[in-house]
Amino acid sequence: MATQYVYYFGDGAADGDASMKTLLGGKGANLAEMLRIGLPVPAGFTLTTEVCTYYYANNRTFPPELKQQVLDSLKKAEKSMGAEFGSATNPLLFSCRSGARESMPGMMDTVLNIGLNDITVVALAQQTGNERSAWDSYRRFVQMYGDVVLELKPKDKTEGDPFEVALEHKREKEGVAEDSGLSVKALKELVAEFKQLIKSRAGKDFPADPMEQVWGAIGAVFGSWMNDRAMVYRRTYGIPHEWGTAANVQAMVFGNLGDDCATGVGLTRDCALGTPGFCGDYLINAQGEDVVAGIRTPKRIEETLSQDMPESYAQLNAIGKKLEKHYKEVQDIEFTIQRGKVYMLQTRNAKRTGFAAVRIAVDLVNEGLITDVEALQKRRIPADDLNQLLQPIFDPAAKTAATKEGRFLAKGINAGPGAASGIICLFADEAEAFHEKNPNIDIVLVRKETSPEDLRGMKAAKGILTATGGASSHAALVSRQMGKACIVGCSAIAVNYTSNTVTVAGKTLKSGDFISMDGFTGEVFEGKLATKASEVIQVLVQKTLKPEESETYKRYAQLMSWVDKYRKLKVRTNADTPGQADEAVAFGAEGIGLCRTEHMFFDHLDEIRHMIVADTKDTREEALAKLLPFQRADFAGLFRSMNGRPVTIRLLDPPLHEFLSDRHLEEQPDLGPKLSKWTGLTLDAVKRRVEELHESNPMLGHRGCRLGIVYPEITAMQARAIFEAAVLVKKEGIHVVPEVMVPLAGFLAEFKHQEKIIREAAERVFSETGTTVEYLVGTMIEVPRAAVRADQIATAAEFFSFGTNDLTQTTLAISRDDYGPFIGFYREHDIIANDPFQTIDQEGVGDIMRIGVERGRSTRPDLKIGICGEHGGDPASVMFCHEIGLSYVSCSPRRVPVAKLAAAQAALAAK
Ligand code: PEP
Ligand code: MG
Repeated sequence: MATQYVYYFGDGAADGDASMKTLLGGKGANLAEMLRIGLPVPAGFTLTTEVCTYYYANNRTFPPELKQQVLDSLKKAEKSMGAEFGSATNPLLFSCRSGARESMPGMMDTVLNIGLNDITVVALAQQTGNERSAWDSYRRFVQMYGDVVLELKPKDKTEGDPFEVALEHKREKEGVAEDSGLSVKALKELVAEFKQLIKSRAGKDFPADPMEQVWGAIGAVFGSWMNDRAMVYRRTYGIPHEWGTAANVQAMVFGNLGDDCATGVGLTRDCALGTPGFCGDYLINAQGEDVVAGIRTPKRIEETLSQDMPESYAQLNAIGKKLEKHYKEVQDIEFTIQRGKVYMLQTRNAKRTGFAAVRIAVDLVNEGLITDVEALQKRRIPADDLNQLLQPIFDPAAKTAATKEGRFLAKGINAGPGAASGIICLFADEAEAFHEKNPNIDIVLVRKETSPEDLRGMKAAKGILTATGGASSHAALVSRQMGKACIVGCSAIAVNYTSNTVTVAGKTLKSGDFISMDGFTGEVFEGKLATKASEVIQVLVQKTLKPEESETYKRYAQLMSWVDKYRKLKVRTNADTPGQADEAVAFGAEGIGLCRTEHMFFDHLDEIRHMIVADTKDTREEALAKLLPFQRADFAGLFRSMNGRPVTIRLLDPPLHEFLSDRHLEEQPDLGPKLSKWTGLTLDAVKRRVEELHESNPMLGHRGCRLGIVYPEITAMQARAIFEAAVLVKKEGIHVVPEVMVPLAGFLAEFKHQEKIIREAAERVFSETGTTVEYLVGTMIEVPRAAVRADQIATAAEFFSFGTNDLTQTTLAISRDDYGPFIGFYREHDIIANDPFQTIDQEGVGDIMRIGVERGRSTRPDLKIGICGEHGGDPASVMFCHEIGLSYVSCSPRRVPVAKLAAAQAALAAK
């Protein structure tokens, strides 16, 4: 049988259903599903994602059997709608929209009103009894077709859209403020002018034949799968390029036939903060794209629709409830109201901020719609999004003060929560370029409206502020998903792209001036504003807010209780100070997975430099004796903070050049003489010693256990400090569980050498103090040899911890210090899918880890194995660690909640 490339839907039935997203895309699958559950959906058909993959595999051509299948479905749709495509008396119009497996809002193309030409427009006018709306639809169609299919674009960023420029002239000529005020005569003129523009600028004729129009639109929709913004979006969200999009051709219904018509987008609950209640944007007497494009600021459904159109409001509310019940998830819908009747054009699971994700998931459980297991699904709360609950907010006192100082500028729609202060930037490409140059300077992207082309600039910005648009505009949707602060529809601001300025509240701000925006409330301020910790941090870490006083915290806590119920992986933290350890414990860390002892020397640079420069054992021991008490006190602090939880302390692994190099001697003229005095070396000898220490590849040099092997007195001092501290704290009545970790070992002999020194130090301290503590000696696995020979190393090592920073570096032969110049290029060109220093390269580094786990446990079946590289806080990597059977992950304190959620998601996914 021939492949079915086209799936029909209409008349209360459909070829497809919601389970067929892979083939029909999200939009196509859900249109089919809505018909199946009895919702009003105009008839149409879906061209499958297989058409798209065929299209790209065959030099942008379609499968031969497609034509007939499209024709057949088109005929069925005509029958269902009781009208005919291209008819001169009773014309049917179609829309053609993209729809991938995962929604990619605004990234691909859409064409509406297909089928209009000089003849059908007259018939449409007669049929609808509304000449104006017929010509308005025709005007829109020529404009959209010219832009999307025939690719008539502005010459440069300052030119402005040529169609919009023509529209503006016409509005001025007719003295009207809005397009809806234009006369029929003006619309007719515009159609002719647009066609002329297309001919002169794009060198093509606008096609009058409806069939040619529909195929042109289908080609453009499939073609838009590979446009730049769609590719950037896919790279950002890990959507494979191979998936392809489906295309949906659907009968048009009209939101622009008069004041009993409207178009809109709605959410079954708010997706910025997660508050319950149907909400959204609508425009009376308008067509779909107007709302999403953000060109006109729409009205709010929850505020005025019940007065404007009470009947339709009731229909919409009922549909919203039915959808939420059916999908068990908040829905983002598109609808058109034609003469009072609501038609559904789309439904999909709504994108939401991290705030909303947590609130909605927890509320749905509390409302009995879903279970706690469902609430934890990755698609409901991507683990990374939990981070948003920990981000700073503006200090209310700072806002009050700024208002008193006259710095309050305006208020818009609060579309994406978060606090952002940064310099104004009006162009997305400039924002991107600036961010690449100065990633430390925050940017606020200010635009009249944003379009999908602005995606790269939005990624670079901390916040996004637009003059027009509603909470469902492209800017709002995309920024929410990115977790950026976002304010839209801030009509008080006037953005002038030519002078590169923003005028608001009688002030003119230039590009580069500071501006602050509160995405929770929609307020905009001039200059910078002070921030304050998030409510979760105020409750957990600062303890300045009572748990019961914070709605956000209460839901966070409920969610984390489910997380702890289901996860199998333990979560520890990388911490070097008691402050960091306390914070991690507040977030629920179950131990320290890595204490980098070299970081403890940041406050004792003189002593460590003394040790580094020492050229005899005696001078080195002198320096070490000075360091011992500091180390002991630091370790004791950590043991106290962790209060009985295990603490993994890694022996010194300093990149020596970071502590002492020619540069330090040059920049600090008194350093050489100081070192000369402490060591008894001449100044020249000090310089020579520093030169000797210089390494071409310090990351592969004399570091890790190599240092402790060549200078065993360093290991001896550190081990002594650890055990003295352990005994001290134990005597205070606190349980201590030290785990001493050897860095960068690749040979069993390296490990054993260090182990012997550690155990001897322990025995000595225990006999001196008359107290013993239980302890473990283990090793980092961070060079491939250690993983490959894990069976041997595990004969002595009592635990493993994967140092995936070094393991990635040594497996890929990519230096973690200087991969910057090419990694961006690699990502842009899809050579590798992710930055391997952020997300574990599962097939390469991951496979070596798997070998390490298997071989280690072949010798020691109950071997405790963790990970302490940066990947320990990356959700995808955490899930991988669960899969390969690690015992715990360790990450920075603030990533602990994220890692825990990812661990629970991994455990549930594996069920
Ligand atoms: C590692 O290599 O992953 C690790 C944790 O050690 P460091 O980053 O200190 O080299
Ligand atoms: Mg390392």
